Amino acid sequence: MYRSKNCGELRLKDVGQKITLSGWIQKSRDLGGLTFTDVRDRYGITQLVFNMDENPELCEKARRLGREFVIQASGTVRERSSKNASRSTGDIEIEVNELTVLNESKVPPFTIEDETDGGDDLRMKYRYLDLRRTPLQQNIIFRSKLALETRKYLDSQDFVEVETPFLIKSTPEGARDFVVPSRLNQGQFYALPQSPQTFKPTLMLGGLDKHFQILKCFRDEDLRADRQPEFTQIDCEMSFVHIEDILNTFEGLAKHLFKTTLQIELPDFPRMSYDEALEKYGSDKPDLRFGMAFTELNEQAKGKDFSVFDQAEIIVGFVAEGIAETYSNKDMKDLTEWVQRPQIGAKGLVYIKWMDDDSIKSTIGKFYNDDTLKSWFALMGGKKGDVIFIMSGETDKTRKQLNELRLEMGKKLNLIKPGYFKPLWVIDFPLLEWDEESGRFHAMHHPFTSPKKEDIPRMLNGDHETMKNLRADAYDLVINGSEIGGGSIRIHDRALQSRNFDLLGFTKEEAEYQFGFLMGAFEYGAPPHGGIAFGFDRLCAVMNGQSSIRDFIAFPKNNQGRDMMIDAPSLIHEQQLIESGIKLADPKK
Ligand code: ASP
Repeated sequence: MYRSKNCGELRLKDVGQKITLSGWIQKSRDLGGLTFTDVRDRYGITQLVFNMDENPELCEKARRLGREFVIQASGTVRERSSKNASRSTGDIEIEVNELTVLNESKVPPFTIEDETDGGDDLRMKYRYLDLRRTPLQQNIIFRSKLALETRKYLDSQDFVEVETPFLIKSTPEGARDFVVPSRLNQGQFYALPQSPQTFKPTLMLGGLDKHFQILKCFRDEDLRADRQPEFTQIDCEMSFVHIEDILNTFEGLAKHLFKTTLQIELPDFPRMSYDEALEKYGSDKPDLRFGMAFTELNEQAKGKDFSVFDQAEIIVGFVAEGIAETYSNKDMKDLTEWVQRPQIGAKGLVYIKWMDDDSIKSTIGKFYNDDTLKSWFALMGGKKGDVIFIMSGETDKTRKQLNELRLEMGKKLNLIKPGYFKPLWVIDFPLLEWDEESGRFHAMHHPFTSPKKEDIPRMLNGDHETMKNLRADAYDLVINGSEIGGGSIRIHDRALQSRNFDLLGFTKEEAEYQFGFLMGAFEYGAPPHGGIAFGFDRLCAVMNGQSSIRDFIAFPKNNQGRDMMIDAPSLIHEQQLIESGIKLADPKK
């Protein structure tokens, strides 16, 4: 038996017991007569003691243990004289009488402690060492629990888990595909699924009614902290449902997950239309953990000879509470420069301060008198001591820029309390999005998304401008400003689906080539259906108050899409290239 107990479970009540532990050496302290060694496993850290007077040979052996050696130690549990309150086993230690080195270790390239000195790539190269660190292990254990609770909940709602294939045809989620050459069908390629979207309706056609899977999806995109080329989704589809049924079922899932893993009871999720989200927060994934909603000032601010405002499509601002006196001119200049950086690209920033002595300090005082500006405070819910920030220009851009400023101010003013969650549903997304550059419509969600019932006649018969205003039965779950999931009620009628492909600029042949099987399937009794997918990695990160998904993935890739540990992607043998039909065999060989 390698161990009778683990390194995290012994307490004062175990004093006197004879036990055996196995684990890795975290660190040792040699105090002459006594050597203290910390041994670690997944469950915790326990202190071992070796006594020079009582057992010099064993003590010598303990002194030779290096960091990360794998050992087995047997001994007696005893109460510690100086206790360590920050450790669950901090009241006891083990007086060791037998020590076996199960394996030695080279000195690890970074410290294996809660705070490590290893850089990202180094940690990924030695991921097996990084995984020994408690915070990372906790993340992976959290993830496992979340997957288990997802299965429990969906099972309780009669969902069937069905695996869809990975070697498929391109899926239209808007990213690039990863492709796999086919040896048996030379010159042809599979695409890895960007989502299982094309299979979900066919499972509904197959009568499976409620289906889910927790699966890998693959998208060849540029990477950021919250994006990986392969990531995991909780992907679901339901038949005979309206929007309400889907939102209720998956609000239920989110509540269940928060309750069972974080012991947090979430209240009912508010719903906000896409238009309202943009008007009030400049974003379709608003962070509702703090206020500072936007107010439009077109009516109030135009026509007063301030040409910047007069020429603007929109004039919009928000109130930041209580900073009129504390934010200096220098702070304001810094903020202005911050919004003018190319990443945000604002032309400028107007501010209005209502000082404690009742005076107004503003960059636009030449054009508006104090009473006018105070009336803006009243309109926007501001008061003495507050500051109004205003931006103006083209509507979409200006709202986006002001959203960046709002989020930045939320952080600067410490308005975001840790451990606080604000979920909401964003609903009524536009069906189509006009892209100036390519001169065509894109599906805002994906091409299988249904327009709202009342918009179907307009979609079938309307002109180009009408198409820009069609609303979809599409929804996103947003938590703390992160998009956690999205889905839609689907089109289940061949003619409507065909019209959607037309609008999206597919020729009949292209639509037939890519999705012919699905349109054909629609002719065999397709039930009304809809679904949703949650980004599982992101959900893990957001629930733990973190922005990077990497540390919730056992083996993530770096920003260049490389797996640093196994060193992939890599070259393959010429023979493999020839077999898969990528390269022609050399006839001379
Ligand atoms: N296929 C969608 C996605 O991956 C989700 C859905 O519509 O159910 O984002």
